[in-house]
Amino acid sequence: MKMMEIKNLFKIFGDNPERGLKLLNEGYSKAEVLEEANLTIGVNDVSFDINSQEIFVIMGLSGSGKSTLLRCLNRLNEPTAGEIKLEGENLLELDQEELRQLRRDKFGMVFQNFALFPHKTVLENAEFGLEVQQTDKSKREIKAREALEKVGLAGWEDQYPEQLSGGMQQRVGLARALAVDPDILLMDEPFSALDPLIKKEMQDKLLELYYQLDKTIIFITHDLDEALKLGDRIAIMNDGEVVQLGTPEEILTNAKNDYVREFVQDVNRSRILTAEDIMTEPVELVYEQDGPHTALHKMRRNQISSIFAVKDKRKLRGIVKIEDVVTAINQGEEDLSALIKEVPTVGPEENIDELFAQMANLDIPLPVLDEQGRLLGILIKSNVLANLAGKRV
Ligand code: ADP
Ligand code: MG
Repeated sequence: MKMMEIKNLFKIFGDNPERGLKLLNEGYSKAEVLEEANLTIGVNDVSFDINSQEIFVIMGLSGSGKSTLLRCLNRLNEPTAGEIKLEGENLLELDQEELRQLRRDKFGMVFQNFALFPHKTVLENAEFGLEVQQTDKSKREIKAREALEKVGLAGWEDQYPEQLSGGMQQRVGLARALAVDPDILLMDEPFSALDPLIKKEMQDKLLELYYQLDKTIIFITHDLDEALKLGDRIAIMNDGEVVQLGTPEEILTNAKNDYVREFVQDVNRSRILTAEDIMTEPVELVYEQDGPHTALHKMRRNQISSIFAVKDKRKLRGIVKIEDVVTAINQGEEDLSALIKEVPTVGPEENIDELFAQMANLDIPLPVLDEQGRLLGILIKSNVLANLAGKRV
């Protein structure tokens, strides 16, 4: 279901913004409009829908128009042109009083700089939105305490913001937004100022809350990793325009232009795990000339039920299984090479999803070979699974 519909939205800063619209229409760029008319393009012809109860991420470099777009959604920035509908209702037709009500009841905002009142306690800060709603004191306190509990701040009610770490201050910011139980949370780089570890904690907390509560979240970041982790869909902005909108998968696998590709390249390098990243060194190997007794000894010593066999320069021959070795020894067989079985193999660049599919029905480790057929390492199912579980995309 659609929560918001945004159509051909423009925001132009400066005197006579209509002139900017005209210039854009004639094909002028953001830089040219500034040069020609001294007007700054904040948002340039943006159209998209926001689904009910999704996390919609807006991403882009600094100055790309993210905050301006977000602030247009509740008319903190007055759009220059376009259409914004909230559950079918045209927001641009609301008068000031209706608008105030809407901001107060439907939207919760969380900011990068926390925007807490330094002389109010944690509880008073969390109550602020309710105070604006003119909720009565006792009810206000109950709701604010509930919200603080949700974000993990029960027990901190009487402290002042400066007594709290950055992460905890932002939890207060989040509690203040949640206390009024808004349908939509607008979050403008809420975690950008936090240390990486705290940032991760807050992202996890937000996801946990998101799964518990029925909220639509519009979340701004300049960090693609954060966008991929949180976003159901991601809109990427450049110079006021949405240059690509898609699921994390689509953004990662199908970047539409160089601007998006730049972001994605950084991430791909670190994020998409390949065989090489997760392979391990086999505890021991056998050589053809080793013979069945040595093979058995090596397997017993390491408590493994199969062992990879290699030739010179670690070129893989195949695998030897303990039951075959035992049978061969019982029959007085001295030649190991007859016991070596072929195995499926993969290259070092194979990505983790492919690997998992290949290993699903395999009861032995999967060897990783270079182009010359040399054994680089082996993949153990539990390792692949653990790594697969650690990522969301
Ligand atoms: P982001 O949040 O992506 O960093 P902003 O939305 O803050 O980007 O800014 C987009 C563009 O609009 C920038 O060129 C910025 O300088 C300009 N801008 C933002 N707010 C104002 C304002 N109040 N007056 C004039 N220009 C503004
Ligand atoms: Mg901004």
